[in-house]
Amino acid sequence: MRIKNLRLLTLFDVPIELHPSSFLMLGFVTWWVATVVYPEQLRGQSSSTYLIMAIITGFAFFLSVVVHEIAHAVVARTYAVEVRNIVIMIFGGITQTRDVKEPWPELVLSLAGPAANAAIGFVLLGGWWLLGAGSSRPLDHVLYWLAVTNLIIAGFNLIPAFPMDGGRVLRAMLWLFTGSFHSATTFSAWLGRGFGWILIAVGILTAFQVRGFLVHDTPVAISSGVISVLIGIFLEDVARRALLQTRVLQALEKYLAIDLMLARPPVVAPDDLLGPLAREVLELNPRVVYFVEEQGRLTGILGSWQIREVPERKWDEVTAGEAMVPAAKLHAIRPDSTVADALKEMEHADLTHVPVVSDGEVLGVLGRDRILGVLYQKGFLRTARVG
Ligand SMILES: [Zn+2]
Repeated sequence: MRIKNLRLLTLFDVPIELHPSSFLMLGFVTWWVATVVYPEQLRGQSSSTYLIMAIITGFAFFLSVVVHEIAHAVVARTYAVEVRNIVIMIFGGITQTRDVKEPWPELVLSLAGPAANAAIGFVLLGGWWLLGAGSSRPLDHVLYWLAVTNLIIAGFNLIPAFPMDGGRVLRAMLWLFTGSFHSATTFSAWLGRGFGWILIAVGILTAFQVRGFLVHDTPVAISSGVISVLIGIFLEDVARRALLQTRVLQALEKYLAIDLMLARPPVVAPDDLLGPLAREVLELNPRVVYFVEEQGRLTGILGSWQIREVPERKWDEVTAGEAMVPAAKLHAIRPDSTVADALKEMEHADLTHVPVVSDGEVLGVLGRDRILGVLYQKGFLRTARVG
């Protein structure tokens, strides 16, 4: 079962979603400042005062995380980089954008988030100072904690460990200087994996309260240790995927769409039933793909993926036109596009096939199965048996 995100709001066409784990972040921050931070800094207040301070702090902290992501999204927009969505989760937020094709937008876009936190931090620090920088009023403590925390977030995010913002900044700079996106990614992602391992190790030492890693009392030590381990695992995982992805894309850049495409697949009409197109055909050719044409024009593509989506007992009721991916949804690619670009296009638009088109003429179709075949040959999908 997939956990569904909660839609918070849509801002400038960008959906901002809350992953259920984001409430854990809100809860943890609120609990931590209510029971540890504020009672230590501002003694002698009632527990309801600490609670009110903590609730305001929790929501303001949450808001800073959202603003950080909105800053990424806004800058992405100014560079015409498509933003899919913003997801807020336990570790902070993620702004999902389309791949950036140049180093400069990637650099500025990545800096925007930490810059937003730094700006919030300095504004709050200014407010705290203008209000007299008192030490006995709850408001001053809330402002001060939020200001310092935002500055710490800005600094933490700038650690050059991919996929954190700092790692993306580093990648963009290496990309700028070396001209190689892949080696820039490889280097930053290895730093990211290393940093992930450090967070996991520090988290374990903190949770078990090993000497030198003492943090307050047991509940705080355990929860912050666990959070550190989780962030470490998450960063390491994303960095490892980025390494694999860059190796895959590098391998696929050597192939052109025209080399791997299936030229002129069999043509069917939109009102043909799936039965004859699928029965006995799928067993012989599991990767079968049809062009669905009407009066010589491509109206859609029907591949084995789409056929298998329809239960077999319905094959004599559903037509090719109903099961196909309509042409309007397909993203045509040029014959001289690299297969790496074609795969990115398919990933982005969630497609199994793309038509290969030159000067308005449909030459053939490129499917994921063909690409998987190449990756298999290259050894990406095989695991050696040891022993
Ligand atoms: Zn960020």
